[in-house]
Amino acid sequence: GRLTFDAIVVGAGPAGVAAALTMARGGLNVIIIERGRFAGAKNLFGGVFYTHALADVLPDYWERKPPFERPVTEQGYWMLSPDSAIRVMHKSERYLKEPADAYTVLRARFDPWFAEQAAAAGALLITRTTVTQLLKDERGRVIGVDTDRPEGKVYAPVVIIAEGVNNLLTQQAGLIASDLPPKYVALAVKEYINLPAKDLQIRFGLSGPREGVAIDVFGDVTLGLPGTGFIYTDQSGISIGVGMLLDEFVTHRLRPYEVLERFKHHPVVRPYLEGGEVREYGAHLIPEMGYDRMPKLAGDGVMVAGDAAGMVDALHREGTNLAITAGKMAGETALAAHQAGDFSAAFLSRYRRNLEGTFVLQDMKQYRRMTDFLESSPQFMGTYVNLLNEAALRYFTAHGIPKRTMEHDILKMVRERRSFTGVAWDMLKLMRAMR
Ligand code: FAD
Repeated sequence: GRLTFDAIVVGAGPAGVAAALTMARGGLNVIIIERGRFAGAKNLFGGVFYTHALADVLPDYWERKPPFERPVTEQGYWMLSPDSAIRVMHKSERYLKEPADAYTVLRARFDPWFAEQAAAAGALLITRTTVTQLLKDERGRVIGVDTDRPEGKVYAPVVIIAEGVNNLLTQQAGLIASDLPPKYVALAVKEYINLPAKDLQIRFGLSGPREGVAIDVFGDVTLGLPGTGFIYTDQSGISIGVGMLLDEFVTHRLRPYEVLERFKHHPVVRPYLEGGEVREYGAHLIPEMGYDRMPKLAGDGVMVAGDAAGMVDALHREGTNLAITAGKMAGETALAAHQAGDFSAAFLSRYRRNLEGTFVLQDMKQYRRMTDFLESSPQFMGTYVNLLNEAALRYFTAHGIPKRTMEHDILKMVRERRSFTGVAWDMLKLMRAMR
């Protein structure tokens, strides 16, 4: 006989596990197939994890002791010029509640825990197994998957693809035409650097292990090119990384690890890392094609969720929460399809309709021009960040100089680098990109 389930999920990242958990709790017989040695073995992110989406799929998650690193109790932006930084950080008493809105997380710890929750709900988790292709019937409907195991075919009336950014199966399903172009994929490199908790506390001004900092960095971190860096405090270490569009690495002949090394040696950054030991190094892609270039989310017998569908809001460094919310909605749609006995693309298209009502597609729609905007307006990460730093230096060092002279100097400096009409035009473009 054929190995048959009610539903198959490909990939045990946040999207796949949320889908499997939702379906298993709804009474379906579910299998999750993951190519890694364990869930999370191949996964890496910044990363800040937002609890709202998790609470939606697993209301009692807190009692289940998720392996979070630190709650984020201070967050904001560093804008680096080659030798300075403007730092805009927000800290509040109101972050000091647990469960918090956001935690730093290491995926090699979080993903296995999350997958265990799906298994506890009855989903069958199979690791070390790669789905090599989708099985289709004579009418092109997806009816299962083939794997790299001998006699590894598995059948189900519905398959949820949660394969992440390398969207090979999404392509096979006919939901998207081709690989993501380098213009719309970011490459991020990250290091996990070990540091005693005591040092972290002193350096980041934390009062204890239940406080943590999340910093996003712009400007010189990417040599003024579109992209960002990040510094997040973990329980006893720092996650530090930098990401830029693949295109930019190629055009400017930059090597990712060199960009990261440069960032680590920035005079403002270096003191935070002193004495730390690099424990892990990794790289990962981020889909940034935006709303207009997303794949179709459903076909006959198949749905796609998470990074595979390009569900990322890079500006707000959100991805795992979009993945979990989408996985949950795909899972709910599969449950409804089982009830109706209808797995057609027409029926499964309610997945997308439901998702349109959430932050997932609304945010993606709002920021759909962001990637193009940043690529076509490099002055935001370059000229402006440097200008702000220069202006700050003049402002804070204008001793013995008439302050009006200082103000004129600053305005003159701005005008030399960017005309006032240029500035006005940029602000308009920025507003348009965020609407
Ligand atoms: P993934 O997490 O990529 O999971 C896909 C899974 O599918 C993997 O386990 C993979 O092994 C498996 N798989 C793939 N193909 C197959 C196959 N054929 N057969 C079997 N298994 C397969 N998000 C945030 O919320 N906050 C952040 O701070 C943040 N920072 C980030 C920083 C970096 C450097 C990067 C790279 C990403 C960041 N993100 C962040 C985004 C976030 O990591 C992703 O959006 C999220 O992981 C997507 O989840 P997913 O389940 O769709 O995909």
